[in-house]
Amino acid sequence: MKKLQAIRGMNDLLPTDSGLWQYLESTVADVVQSYGYQEMRFPMLEPTELFKRSIGEVTDIVEKEMYTFDDRNGDSVTLRPEGTASCVRACEQHGLLYNQTQRVWYQGPMFRYERPQKGRLRQFHQIGIETFGMSGPDIDAELLLMTARLWRELGIIDAVTLQLNTLGSSAARAAYRDALVAYLSERKDQLDEDSQRRLDSNPLRILDSKDANTQALLNGAPALHDYLDDESREHFDGLKAMLDAAGISYEVNPRLVRGLDYYSKTVFEWVTTKLGAQGTVCAGGRYDGLVEQLGGKPTPAVGFAMGVERLVLLLQELQVLPEGLDRSVDVYVVAMGDVQPQAFALAEQIRNGLPHLRVMSHCGGGNFKKQMKKADASGADVAVILGEDEVAQGQATLKFLREDRPQQTLAVEELLRALQD
Ligand code: ATP
Ligand code: MG
Repeated sequence: MKKLQAIRGMNDLLPTDSGLWQYLESTVADVVQSYGYQEMRFPMLEPTELFKRSIGEVTDIVEKEMYTFDDRNGDSVTLRPEGTASCVRACEQHGLLYNQTQRVWYQGPMFRYERPQKGRLRQFHQIGIETFGMSGPDIDAELLLMTARLWRELGIIDAVTLQLNTLGSSAARAAYRDALVAYLSERKDQLDEDSQRRLDSNPLRILDSKDANTQALLNGAPALHDYLDDESREHFDGLKAMLDAAGISYEVNPRLVRGLDYYSKTVFEWVTTKLGAQGTVCAGGRYDGLVEQLGGKPTPAVGFAMGVERLVLLLQELQVLPEGLDRSVDVYVVAMGDVQPQAFALAEQIRNGLPHLRVMSHCGGGNFKKQMKKADASGADVAVILGEDEVAQGQATLKFLREDRPQQTLAVEELLRALQD
């Protein structure tokens, strides 16, 4: 029979790596919650319409990357390719955007039918943050302060740089789009194939084409910054001033545009050179028009998402992981002879008294040598050995597995005290 395999581009997380993922996820959760953000969860499957109306019909995501199918009722549904649309849908549905501000975060798998490669998967994971009801640059700055703190906590601040741009109001962008299309249409034959196609459908995306000829051609093109409306200009200046005051460095990249249609004003990406072509670890921006576009009242909003797989790769690449993430056991309890019930009771006592310790009980019997081999392989620092003699005396033996120290036979009270250090 053919061996069953996971779908291409969809990874399993194995026990050896889950400690690292938990470390990353809990560090992010601690940082964002230290700014008062609350977690939200929403379904992985949504009506296809939600993504078409938010991300945009002519984006790469909607045109060719979505996992879309009809459910048994014939309704078109899509595995979410990103979280912002669902977050807006959920907040709107539950009245969370009415006359109030929101700061929320979420995490989970996203699905895009892309060509799998390093840092690019078909099921990948994002941690996202969205804020609603705040129109000034202060909240944009808060998000960037928060990400900078997170990179410091993770020890990767020196490996990432912040790229910043503003896309202006939708009217400013439309005027710029016309000027850009006029310029590029005259030089269409010099554009790469993708960019030629985008000239009709999504011309702003040409700005971040990876093609060298196209980039050279863009040097003479009209600049978005010359088309900005005053309000967007002031917003951007305000943001830069706050980042300067906070000591957060950034590069203004006038060609930074995002692959989703809903952005306006601020857009940003944190990028690294350590991961090859897939160098964007976190990306986001302002999307003041989206809530209204999805049927709500006009609501200013700004958010971002980070790619968990890429952050994991970066942590590994930079070797900034705390020690012991692959270890899951501190104490291994060995039962010699007919004392399994007492050994379980002792393990429970250790867990009661010292809840921070991870205690594994040997199961499956076997002689002393076999059990000690398991104790060693578990990665535990110490083995607690219980035999019939120990049970009779109300004692247990503490054996050090990683240090050259004599073993000790102790009363249970003393054992707990010894394990505490
Ligand atoms: P890219 O330009 O790298 O394709 P994107 O603009 O499509 O990114 P967003 O939709 O803004 O990405 O998603 C935010 C983050 O999620 C990205 O910066 C990246 O870290 C991560 N990400 C996006 N697509 C994938 C994928 N297919 N596999 C793994 N991570 C991804
Ligand atoms: Mg993409």
